[in-house]
Amino acid sequence: MSRRDDILREMGLSPVWKLRASAPAPAQRFEEPARPPEGSWIEIKRAVPSCTACGLHKSRTHTVLGVGDERADWLLVGEAPGAEEDRTGEPFVGQAGRLLDAMLAAIDLSREKNVYICNVLKCRPPGNRNPEPDEVARCTPFLLRQIELIQPKLIVAMGRFAAQTLLNTDASIASLRGRVHRYAERPLIVTYHPAYLLRNLPDKSKAWADLVFARRTMAGL
Ligand code: URA
Repeated sequence: MSRRDDILREMGLSPVWKLRASAPAPAQRFEEPARPPEGSWIEIKRAVPSCTACGLHKSRTHTVLGVGDERADWLLVGEAPGAEEDRTGEPFVGQAGRLLDAMLAAIDLSREKNVYICNVLKCRPPGNRNPEPDEVARCTPFLLRQIELIQPKLIVAMGRFAAQTLLNTDASIASLRGRVHRYAERPLIVTYHPAYLLRNLPDKSKAWADLVFARRTMAGL
C-alpha cells in the first residue's frame, strides 16, 4: 500500500474519500501544496472526529471543524483550537473569539450570518503550542475541502499559520498584509490573529484596517 493510502486510511478518509488522480499526499510547504480530497459535508463531519492522522488526536477532547454558514461569502481561517474550543468543539469561543466577534460586528458581520469560521488544525496542540509542520500537512486537506464546499467569495487568513498554509509561503504577516492575494482564484486577505492582538494592543488598529480593506474588497467583487 502506498504512503498516500496509509495517510488517507489514518485520516479515516479511505475508502470513502479518494484523492483526485494527480493529487499528491498532503505536502510540506514549498513542495506541491496539499490538494483537497473529495467528500461531502456529511463525510467530512464523519471523518474529522475520527481522524488519527497525527498525534494530536491523543490529547484532544473534541475536534473543532468549524462554525457558521456552510455557503457563506466570508471565510475566516485561524490557527488551531485552544482550551475552550477543545472543550466545546466550536472555534473561537475563548477570549480571542470574543475579540473576533467584536471585530466582525464592527463590520456588520457575525458568525451566525454569511460567515464561516474554522482553523488550519482541527485538534488542539497541547498547551497551545504552535502547530508542527507535519500536523499542518496532515490536517490541511480538511481545510481545503471545506473551502471547496463553502465556495466563499473572500477568505480572511488570521495569523501566520493560516496565511502561510493557504498561500504556501513563509513570508511574514507584516509583509502579506494590505494586498489581495489569491487562493484557488478567490481573493484572500491576511490579517493578524486575534490572540496576537490581545497581546499586542497597538496592532488592533492595523487589524481594523485589514477588515475595512476586506469589506471594501468584498463590495467590489
Ligand atoms: N485560536 C484559533 O486560532 N482558533 C480558535 O478556534 C481559537 C483560538
